Amino acid sequence: MRCFYLSSGLKINLNKSSLMGVCVDSSEIEFFSNKFHCKAGSLPFTYLGLPIGCSMNRCESWEPVLNKFLSKLSNWKASNLSSGGRLVLISVTLKCLVTLDAQSLPGETSDKVAWALERSGQFTVASMRKAYDDFYLKKSSRSNLMWTNRVPSKVSIHAWRTGHCRLPTKCNLQKRGINLLSLDCSLCGGEEETEDHLFVRCPVARSVLNDIGRWWGVNASSVNHLRDLFQWGQVLNFKGDTLKAFLAVIYTYLWLLWKMRNGKIFSSSDRGKDLFVNSQVQAYSFFWIKTRSRCSLANRWLQWCCSPSSCF
Ligand SMILES: [Zn+2]
Repeated sequence: MRCFYLSSGLKINLNKSSLMGVCVDSSEIEFFSNKFHCKAGSLPFTYLGLPIGCSMNRCESWEPVLNKFLSKLSNWKASNLSSGGRLVLISVTLKCLVTLDAQSLPGETSDKVAWALERSGQFTVASMRKAYDDFYLKKSSRSNLMWTNRVPSKVSIHAWRTGHCRLPTKCNLQKRGINLLSLDCSLCGGEEETEDHLFVRCPVARSVLNDIGRWWGVNASSVNHLRDLFQWGQVLNFKGDTLKAFLAVIYTYLWLLWKMRNGKIFSSSDRGKDLFVNSQVQAYSFFWIKTRSRCSLANRWLQWCCSPSSCF
């Protein structure tokens, strides 16, 4: 052990160590543990929370592990997690789903638990996502917004909350029983602040949307409701990476407009709308798409600004 320490630099702390034997008499273990000044241990023992030295094919061997999980989960409250944390938890849980072989019967083929959405029977997040997009989103009457990984999850979550009327707009706050002096739009003061008004019909939003339309070479006049905004890319028949990039631009727009609205209320900042659309939506979406997708947008900033759909 001294040689091991000198060659590796790893010193063994004998006070924290135990000596165990496999098929060795207990008196012998006792003798050597006294000699080395360490404890005499026995199998099975626990290492990093897992039982070592017992048969892991037995259900009872897993009991301490399951009990540990249950004791942690009982204290866990979903409401204490941020939206990003919940997303990570859902994603990890889905990825950790395992297909289990059922107990095989002698002479018969074994039963299997298989994932019906994949031909291989193995679970994949992509198949789940496709089923969700194709089935549940089409059935959802409120909005059929797609998830995109081209923007940070906080921006996607914000778009999802917008589409499901979950943002604390003035009208939503009133519905939740909060009395406000005025329900007028924080940006123009003209109409009541609903999601539809704030992100689509408000003159400030309208002007930014028209700019985005001009930038992408499309007409924004067909966008009259929030749901039109979420379907805009599909209506324009954008496909693949172009559709994803366009969606990322829309989500970036929702995020930045909401930030601008909050800035106006809470820090009385009043940025010019031209600066807002020209620099921020273009720059943020460019940076986010560039760092998150395989398609190379690097060194194509000018192309992105002049003709974004030609980048893909
Ligand atoms: Zn307005």
